[in-house]
Amino acid sequence: MSRQPSLQIDGNRLVRDLETLAAIGADAQGGVTRIAYSQEDREGREWVRAEFAALDLEVATDSAGNDSWVYPGAERGLAPIALGSHTDTVPNGGRYDGALGVLSALAAVRVLYLENRRLRHPVEVINFAAEEATMSGATFGSRAMAGTLAPDVVQHRAWDSRTVADHLRDAGLDPDRVTEARRTDGPAAFLELHIEQGRRLETQRKPIGVVEGIAGIRRYEVTVNGYANHAGTTLMQDRQDALVMAAPYVLQVKAVAEQHGIVGTVGKMDILPGSPNVIPGQVIINLEIRGLDEDVLDRAERQLEEEAGKLQAAFVQTSNKPPVDSDPLLVQALVAACEDNGYAYARMASGAGHDAMCMADLAPQAMLFVPSRNGVSHSPDEYTPPEDCVAGAQVLGTALLYLDGMLDSGR
Ligand SMILES: [Zn+2]
Repeated sequence: MSRQPSLQIDGNRLVRDLETLAAIGADAQGGVTRIAYSQEDREGREWVRAEFAALDLEVATDSAGNDSWVYPGAERGLAPIALGSHTDTVPNGGRYDGALGVLSALAAVRVLYLENRRLRHPVEVINFAAEEATMSGATFGSRAMAGTLAPDVVQHRAWDSRTVADHLRDAGLDPDRVTEARRTDGPAAFLELHIEQGRRLETQRKPIGVVEGIAGIRRYEVTVNGYANHAGTTLMQDRQDALVMAAPYVLQVKAVAEQHGIVGTVGKMDILPGSPNVIPGQVIINLEIRGLDEDVLDRAERQLEEEAGKLQAAFVQTSNKPPVDSDPLLVQALVAACEDNGYAYARMASGAGHDAMCMADLAPQAMLFVPSRNGVSHSPDEYTPPEDCVAGAQVLGTALLYLDGMLDSGR
């Protein structure tokens, strides 16, 4: 790979920008609350727009509320290389989730602007709307952009039981026009810097994670049937207690996940009829498994189904989001950028979904992670050391330069 000219992110400015944005929607519990389309979210986005306006870049806002800016390139006819993430948060969330990706992209474009440099490709920055799962599922804005929203989604309930349509109207958007956010032309590539929200990087003492793929998620409903009866008069040996039958299955989920090197979780159980004086007659277990490899997920699924069969329990798959691989060329650019800057990196999978996963429908994509202290996220305790934030931005900016040379090179 040929060496590219370098790009030096202004680290102090990035750290200051993170602090400034964190003050918008700062809540009494020490966290940040900028729920999608709320007053605070709009204020945060407005501040980001002003920062881009200072670089002579005008915002384009689509009908789902995604903001984007395009810094022009030197070569005609090339699609932009896009960078981005989100500035909305969960209620009482942290300062880095999403914000780091948007502000690092801003930092990269700011360098180009201040040095009066043009890359071959235009550089697009996207501040996605409603990434957090507050609007009937996560990644609302990027799904709108990719055209993968359910047709009736605006009628769904948002986090506060108002409809998604109500929230869109709060932000001055027309719910009937959300589908117009769909893009047909994707960027040449999409890169997202995000906090890891896990502990791997911290444990390995590495500042950068190069994401090779985003885990697939399969969810199941397992219904275990027993026999509901009086909890006082039915002798222990006469019982068919559905919860007692279901309990070992929960441990099986853990064992199967560990055996296959994936993650598996029973996150919800309904115990019916659900009364202290009635032996449980039915238990509905909601579980999910996540992993990068479809074959491994298949094997784990078969085993879980087999175990359910031993209990004569019904085993039904309720959803299946396939894993998304990062684009190999983009991964190569990220690795080269880490090596260029002398940062240790780990190749890893993302266990959580992100806007990049939705952008995979439109463009080659990849992500990079920086460490999360104690693996904590969606919490006021979310923290990434300043030097790691700057390292992430530096790798993002350098990878942008590499990609600018690699893509559409006609060679
Ligand atoms: Zn996020």
